[in-house]
Amino acid sequence: MSVGSTFDSTKEQVKRSIDIVELVGEYIPLRREGRNYKGLCPWHDDSHPSLHVNPERQTFHCFVCHIGGDIFSRNDCSTRRRPGPNNNFTSA
Ligand SMILES: [Zn+2]
Repeated sequence: MSVGSTFDSTKEQVKRSIDIVELVGEYIPLRREGRNYKGLCPWHDDSHPSLHVNPERQTFHCFVCHIGGDIFSRNDCSTRRRPGPNNNFTSA
């Protein structure tokens, strides 16, 4: 077993053990809509829920400011609350 694959599988284990809906829900009130959850995006002045959380893929995405990712990038966002045009979030 190589070091690289150990890191990857650890990452996958963390992903499986943490529910992104619960995690995001600690910061933002989420409402279930069909298969997804929606909430007010913390990164722009949101008046109706633009932040969608997909529990099946364990990802989130804001349709207005196009910030999205998984639990690891979300941890990034909570420490850097002011994403600019040059932010490094993956645009899915
Ligand atoms: Zn947004």
